[in-house]
Amino acid sequence: MFPAADGMTGVIPQADPARRLGRFRSEIDQALKRVFDSGRLLLGPETAAFEQEFAAYLGGGEVVAVASGASALTIALTALGIEPGDEVVVPALTAVPTAGAIHRAGALPVFADVDPLTRNLDPAALGAAIGPHTRAIVPVHLHGMPADMPAILAVARRHGLAVIEDCAQAHGASLGGRMLGTFGHAAAFSFYPTKNLGAAGDAGAIFTADGALAARARRLRAHGLDDHGVAAETGETGRIDEMQAAILRVLLPHLDAANADRRRIAGEYSAALAGSGIDLPPEFPTANYHQFAVALDRRDDVRARMAQAGILTGIHYPRALHQHPAFKSAASLPVAERLATRLLSLPIQPEVAETRAAQIAAVLLQSLRS
Ligand SMILES: *Cc1c(COP(=O)(O)O)cnc(C)c1O
Repeated sequence: MFPAADGMTGVIPQADPARRLGRFRSEIDQALKRVFDSGRLLLGPETAAFEQEFAAYLGGGEVVAVASGASALTIALTALGIEPGDEVVVPALTAVPTAGAIHRAGALPVFADVDPLTRNLDPAALGAAIGPHTRAIVPVHLHGMPADMPAILAVARRHGLAVIEDCAQAHGASLGGRMLGTFGHAAAFSFYPTKNLGAAGDAGAIFTADGALAARARRLRAHGLDDHGVAAETGETGRIDEMQAAILRVLLPHLDAANADRRRIAGEYSAALAGSGIDLPPEFPTANYHQFAVALDRRDDVRARMAQAGILTGIHYPRALHQHPAFKSAASLPVAERLATRLLSLPIQPEVAETRAAQIAAVLLQSLRS
């Protein structure tokens, strides 16, 4: 029917990180050769250079590169003094690791409902979730759409709470001229391969403007050890490796162009689906469209029909967090629960969606009618 993203099978995948890395293959090969030749495999010159380059990209402050986005969250929470017995408020609609990291820091995640339009933490619900044991808030910029940081920071200030932005989906997105990740006390980024800035394996980073916090995070990523091999507290195996850092240095200069492509594709989807009655994500000029998720009734039927037509979609996420047995929550959060049954992520990675937005939208509309 139309040119296939995958010449072998004719199937358009929801995402294809290897294809993105392949575009930069010769530069990546050179970077990996540099690492092998250096003999340094962990926490060497590539890590130090990537930390400086990513901090400069964010406009200053310090970056501590780590093993994953989840590690970044756990280490940031611990470095901010979050302890067992503390409660941390998170939006109910996000990836499991947002709350898993709170568990691993020994604290209790408390779930708050989200806004039906932005799908991000609802500041009123946040206010209602705060109790005597609350110590921190982890807002998530879901799908690369900025959370309402001014309102969230106002709540945090009123109650004296730490704010750790979950920027796993927010690389390069901004709000009011400020990069996401620079609003809170700290931010956690993931470089999981499908993220807007994605490595060839697991990696992550903490951003903070607080030097003492960064220093503690540097110890916590390496078992709590200081430069003299002395541990004042225990940490984790949270190091980034030199190969991922070297690959991220190749990719970082291309992040803004890739985000611009995602915005263009999002605009094409919005135009093609306008007036269809489908709930679309807000058109937000400085979002990075990590995902473009429509909300529909009979989502699973539509998804199956699209797959039959060769277009694979994603579900981010199939359950609200409080609905996972792991969190043993009795909460009822209707907006997040309903979105979890209705959201469908269309292909938006530029190498996959390319010039196919109108055609993918047409298949979606057809699948909705049949
Ligand atoms: C990907 C992701 C994480 C976890 O990142 P990892 O690198 O897989 O540990 C955390 N939060 C959100 C919102 C994510 O999308």
